[in-house]
Amino acid sequence: MAEHSNGGRTAIVIGGGLAGMLAVTALAGHVEAITVVERDRYPQGHAFRKGVPQARHLHILLSGGQRALEELLPGTVAALTEAGARSLYLPRDILTRTPTGWQRRFDERRHRMLSITRPVLDAVVRERALRAVAGSTTRVEVLEATEAIGLIGDAGRVSGVRVRSRDAGPGEPTERTLPAALVVDASGRASRAPQWYAALGRTSPHEETVDAGLAYATRMYRPKDPDTAPDAGVNVPGWPECPRGAAYIPVEDGNWLLTLSGVRGHHPPTDEAEFTAFSATIGDPYIHELLAQAEPLSPVHGFRDTCNRRRHFERPGALPEGFLVLGDAACTFNPVYGQGMSVAALGALAVRDTLAGGGGLRPGATAEAQRAAARAVEPAWLAAVGADRPYADGQDAAAGLGERLSTWYLDRLFARAAVDRVVGDAFRDVFCLTAPPTRLVAPRILLRTVLLPRRPGLPAPPTAVEGA
Ligand SMILES: Cc1cc2nc3c(=O)[nH]c(=O)nc-3n(C[C@H](O)[C@H](O)[C@H](O)COP(=O)(O)OP(=O)(O)OC[C@H]3O[C@@H](n4cnc5c(N)ncnc54)[C@H](O)[C@@H]3O)c2cc1C
Repeated sequence: MAEHSNGGRTAIVIGGGLAGMLAVTALAGHVEAITVVERDRYPQGHAFRKGVPQARHLHILLSGGQRALEELLPGTVAALTEAGARSLYLPRDILTRTPTGWQRRFDERRHRMLSITRPVLDAVVRERALRAVAGSTTRVEVLEATEAIGLIGDAGRVSGVRVRSRDAGPGEPTERTLPAALVVDASGRASRAPQWYAALGRTSPHEETVDAGLAYATRMYRPKDPDTAPDAGVNVPGWPECPRGAAYIPVEDGNWLLTLSGVRGHHPPTDEAEFTAFSATIGDPYIHELLAQAEPLSPVHGFRDTCNRRRHFERPGALPEGFLVLGDAACTFNPVYGQGMSVAALGALAVRDTLAGGGGLRPGATAEAQRAAARAVEPAWLAAVGADRPYADGQDAAAGLGERLSTWYLDRLFARAAVDRVVGDAFRDVFCLTAPPTRLVAPRILLRTVLLPRRPGLPAPPTAVEGA
């Protein structure tokens, strides 16, 4: 790694959330010291915090993300399970309603999703990441209640961060600069990297957006009688004729999260009575019926900024030396596909492997690592924007023939996957981020999807598991 004036062999990670902690893990052993700059103070216990407002909503960790997390921080899946994460095998433990009926409940055990509230997940990952780096040659320091407010350097190189302390004592300076040879932006979906670029005299990286205009509203419940609680989560995604959806999924401590969603004109309300009423207007009454057997534990929380947005920091010339962008700061997804955390893990793993394989942080290594992280994002991006095009509007929404074809094909494949184990396997492999999208167009899958006649799904939520 190139030494830099005053920055030495040090790195600053902006944002001590999930991607930030995984960035720390990826950099361990490659720098002498890492400073994590986190705007919030971490709460005691597992309370929600302001810097991660999406944390009140349902978060599932896909099997592809679990694999990446295990490679970065071995033992984390077991630690999450120990902390109460629910293991849900697809499709056995999530009953899914498709436009043509309910998905069959195959007992495949190929893909396990983890369901746990975000504060618990983040605390487990943070504790393990900081412990792992403490056992390496890299020193780490976390500056809580400290906000990054700009980059220092010039158009060609980032050489540090301007920070503002949020709880400086009387007479203490609130602003200062922290020099570093490498700055990682992991500040999430509200990242100000484009504005910071402008202040350095750089143009913003190319940005793509596909916005289905979806909004979320979430409330926590507990079944009144745990013995009669459903034995599986339930997912009723919206579809063009009924663009309102819901997912009712167990989390730790015997609680369940109900997330309602809807595109423009169908946003779920945050008023409690209206929220319950909205749950009766989705594509199937089953979830609404289950609510009669549960008591609410929380108010309703809403969330509106759910657009797919990708900033192409990996393109030639889009990244100054000494800068790297990971997690939501680089790419956010419509959350209904449950991909963001998994992609953060896959991106961090790509960075770690690039550094390990290429002799560490030599000049040019960050651009290479950014390209590797972008490749890790690609499958999830294609899946999300392919599925969202029919709902999107705006300048960037015009789909080419290839994308329209892929939306038509995915729609047909999704219907087939509900009733066909072979197609279902391929669908789940790709959507759980364990196989590339090309798996969906393998000859066997393509033929079954295109040639076999459409068959409806089951008429009611299946109670029996098939092939157990
Ligand atoms: C409603 C909703 C539901 C979702 N559901 C799922 C799901 O089911 N599965 C899934 O995998 N993903 C899901 N996601 C995506 C997931 O939340 C994100 O992909 C993930 O949190 C990205 O991690 P991150 O570290 O990049 O950002 P964040 O987790 O948002 O962390 C950013 C951190 O940076 C800090 N920060 C911000 N600005 C500054 C600053 N200027 N200076 C210092 N610190 C700063 C914040 O305080 C925070 O700690 C969902 C997203 C939404 C919106």
